[in-house]
Amino acid sequence: MNAPISGSSAYQAPTLLEGTSSTHLTPSGSNETVAVPRNDAGTSLLMTRSPNPCRRGCRSVEACACTPGERARYLARLSRPLLDRIDVHVEVPPVPYRELEADRPPGEGSAAVRKRVLAARERQRARFGRARVRVNARMTSRQVGRYCGLSAEGRQLLAQAVDRLGLSARAHDRVLKVSRTIGDLAGAEAIGVEHLAEALQYRGLERWFL
Ligand SMILES: [Zn+2]
Repeated sequence: MNAPISGSSAYQAPTLLEGTSSTHLTPSGSNETVAVPRNDAGTSLLMTRSPNPCRRGCRSVEACACTPGERARYLARLSRPLLDRIDVHVEVPPVPYRELEADRPPGEGSAAVRKRVLAARERQRARFGRARVRVNARMTSRQVGRYCGLSAEGRQLLAQAVDRLGLSARAHDRVLKVSRTIGDLAGAEAIGVEHLAEALQYRGLERWFL
């Protein structure tokens, strides 16, 4: 799904309320509404956006040369409540030609990744036991409190990030759930500071709102 931030309005999400069973998205300029089951582990929502977000084609928030007014107009097209519901934001910078040419070591193969994912799923199944929830993404706020404990160092890092990025309560819980999953993929019993730091990196779009 493309997030049409160059249009006059972003995806409108009028029913983004806790307690609803689904989220309805209406792409701008379209009569179609897409129903996205809320927190459903069986559904993956993937959105892309233009690599040149601002009027001047700024590639990153650090390189943004827009005035505050221009930037505010751009951000008004991105729905923050919608961003809150997306687990992972990834910025994909252009790859310089010399890197495309260079010999790079092969990445982890699909079979190995599958094994790691299945092990992480098993870890989650064991964690939740008889609870109705089976995967981290579906944890309630209370379960996040119970299963996503942090060390003192982790708590400090998260508190700083919440203040710095102005994260909502929902985004805060989401960071913890993603951290728990990164930890599960690494086979870790507890959420480490490195897992939390990685999850925070996946909130890159929040920086545009600072
Ligand atoms: Zn800009």
